[in-house]
Amino acid sequence: MKVYDSIIIGAGVSGLCISSLLAKKGEKVLILEKAPVVGGRYQSINYKNHVLDDGAHMPSESGHMENVFKDLGLKYPELLKYNSGEAWVDGKWVPMKDYFPMSEAKGIFEWFASMPEDELLPLYDVSVKDWAKEKSDDISWEHLFTYMGQIADVGNKIEDLSMGEFAHFYREHLLKGYRLNQIGGTISGGLRSVSGQLQSFFEEHGGEIRLNTPVNDIVVKGGVVRGVEIETGEKVFPSHVLDTEIIEAKKVISTLPIWDFFKVISEDEFPAWYRDWIDRLKKKVTHVWTIAYAVDKPLWPMDMFRWTPKLKRSGCFGVFYQHQSYGDKAGEIQVNLVIQGNYDDLPDLTELQWAKNRREVRKILDGLEKDGIEQIPGLKDAAKWQVRTAGIFGLTESPAMTGMHRPTMTPPEVKNLYIVSDTIREAKGLGIQAIAHASEALIKKVFPND
Ligand SMILES: Cc1cc2nc3c(=O)[nH]c(=O)nc-3n(C[C@H](O)[C@H](O)[C@H](O)COP(=O)(O)OP(=O)(O)OC[C@H]3O[C@@H](n4cnc5c(N)ncnc54)[C@H](O)[C@@H]3O)c2cc1C
Repeated sequence: MKVYDSIIIGAGVSGLCISSLLAKKGEKVLILEKAPVVGGRYQSINYKNHVLDDGAHMPSESGHMENVFKDLGLKYPELLKYNSGEAWVDGKWVPMKDYFPMSEAKGIFEWFASMPEDELLPLYDVSVKDWAKEKSDDISWEHLFTYMGQIADVGNKIEDLSMGEFAHFYREHLLKGYRLNQIGGTISGGLRSVSGQLQSFFEEHGGEIRLNTPVNDIVVKGGVVRGVEIETGEKVFPSHVLDTEIIEAKKVISTLPIWDFFKVISEDEFPAWYRDWIDRLKKKVTHVWTIAYAVDKPLWPMDMFRWTPKLKRSGCFGVFYQHQSYGDKAGEIQVNLVIQGNYDDLPDLTELQWAKNRREVRKILDGLEKDGIEQIPGLKDAAKWQVRTAGIFGLTESPAMTGMHRPTMTPPEVKNLYIVSDTIREAKGLGIQAIAHASEALIKKVFPND
């Protein structure tokens, strides 16, 4: 029987990154993906002649994904950055530099950039709000930290954001010489220019991907991983308990976010402290809700990013930006209206089986639509179609929830089982950059002598 070196559960960015790195090392690797497409929380599809992306619309450029691409000999796509920004204040758009003091921001940036990384350690359990308040009571100062916090974490509360995580994030970008509005951007060609390259690399290096193949259970015998179990045959009743097949592997890497980890392995394999730890973390998430509109012409300057500190209807913050749609009809533009916020302000997206939550989801998106129409004159008439989404971005980066407070890539008491995801300790930074961090950490662990 075929025994794989590695089975990877999930073909999101984590699955595609880690499997490509392992395939490059000569491993025999199989990815099992529940969905009919790769991408997970980061998808690129064709829709009405447009490339429509969901998730990681605006990655940052801290260098980790770029390193993974370099290791694989691939070219990381260009990030199209925004050159200026406006904030929605008292019912109108104002230049960001009038809303908060860029001269003060410069001082903070210099301080972050000059600070050795280990001096940040005591700040991981301090909130950004407490830290900022100690320096100044000026409201414009709080506005600045609110903006920077929302960019760094995607949550909407600086009282709920770790200063260490915040400073680490900015430090990485500032050391590269970026200005505040250059931290994120849209990816030229859309998200598929990242995931597509990784998938092709993996397959060209002998990797196998099976789509529509959910892992039912990770097989563990005597505390050692032996492979995974998948269901076989056709479900003829919703209650049908299907037969299963075991696929053997020397190691199994779960790339599921930590809130889904126990869906592929029994909690009984782990000590009680570990189960409690995952249970405590798993609902503390940040959200991203988007309405993507297709329009023919930009509705404000293309290279300008717009930010609303507190949207009228949801109370969360909003970012509005435009990008080229990369459709067949060159020149068409997408306008994205995005709400970002914390788990405690928004309906629980892990519980969408409840009608009450689904109703709440629609209400929030209806609110975003109204906010958008109010804040962007002409949007309603210009829009040719729209697509609305609500997704979990990742774990919140609150004090006592980052770094040492997160599970590591090696879960306890089960050998040859690993986790690579944006939700583990080794994943530092934001979204897909955090994943690259975690993937490289695992490669070092598996091939320590390279
Ligand atoms: C709306 C939104 C906006 C975002 N914006 C940004 C951004 O601007 N910048 C940024 O850097 N990041 C952003 N992120 C975060 C980024 O998308 C994630 O960090 C990243 O996609 C996570 O990838 P992953 O592979 O770790 O996890 P996932 O993408 O969650 O991958 C897990 C995979 O496992 C599969 N799976 C689940 N169960 C099973 C099973 N039983 N068997 C087999 N497969 C299974 C899933 O289908 C999925 O494909 C955003 C996320 C969202 C949702």
